Amino acid sequence: MTSVVLSIGSNLGDRMARLQSVLDGLGPAVRAVSPVYETDAWGGVEQGPFLNAVLIADDPALDGQGWLRRGQELEQAAGRVRGQRWGPRTLDVDLIACYDGDVELSSRTDGLTLPHPLAHLRAFVLIPWLTVDPDATLTVAGESRPVQRLLGEIDQAERDGVRPTDLALTLQTESTRD
Ligand code: AMP
Repeated sequence: MTSVVLSIGSNLGDRMARLQSVLDGLGPAVRAVSPVYETDAWGGVEQGPFLNAVLIADDPALDGQGWLRRGQELEQAAGRVRGQRWGPRTLDVDLIACYDGDVELSSRTDGLTLPHPLAHLRAFVLIPWLTVDPDATLTVAGESRPVQRLLGEIDQAERDGVRPTDLALTLQTESTRD
């Protein structure tokens, strides 16, 4: 069984619809989804704020590359055009960490770096992640670290910039499936 922690974000168009399209696309594979947060964009490009969330999904048939492909298919379905780096995007799907059972997978090949090399620096990833898995750990520089600790190492101002919203994504369960 492989499972994945995905960070999803959108700052163009109907942002909630873009995020919801990931849950709808992955269907009952999604085990948990965080609340939705709003975060100002960074990277120096003038653009609107992002809505961000983190979800955990399971699929015995997918390895890291398979999850990357699924994520890219969902980005394309949401009308994502790869343009400016750090620029606005209809939908961004990042693989944060991938597990085979309890074992965290690592990858440095074929366009896939696992765990995500910047995840431990991003409050908009760590804050939602902790809401769905308060005991989460992440390997950073070869060492497994509690995500709670990693978050404590991020500037307070950046943590405060991840603002809770009252928006909620809908998890599709077996019983709500068509
Ligand atoms: P971005 O523009 O942030 O969506 O970056 C997407 C590119 O990063 C793609 O070409 C992916 O192949 C590559 N990539 C490498 N590692 C990851 C990862 N852990 N999650 C998502 N994309 C990744």
